[in-house]
Amino acid sequence: MGVGLQNAKEAKVISMNDTDESKNLCDFCGGELRPGATEIEVRINGELVVIEDLSALICHQCGEAYFTAQVSRQIDDILARRKELTPLRYESVPVFSPSLVG
Ligand SMILES: [Zn+2]
Repeated sequence: MGVGLQNAKEAKVISMNDTDESKNLCDFCGGELRPGATEIEVRINGELVVIEDLSALICHQCGEAYFTAQVSRQIDDILARRKELTPLRYESVPVFSPSLVG
């Protein structure tokens, strides 16, 4: 099921509706957005996928990342074609839960 993907996209992939990037402020905290790069993690059909080197406007206060329509489309392309693309590398990640600290 694609629920996790949709949730991640709602949270992280927000298309800018204005080409004048200097006037954009963070929807969440009103902070100034500055050009930068980020990565996203998406769990899709139970599989965790990381996409790095994404150009974004990043809120300097809360860190929320905003993607242009082009980058958003590239994310969609990567996720749709992830079975045919060769990943840059594989990483194993540590997994925790609150039960570990009581
Ligand atoms: Zn913010």
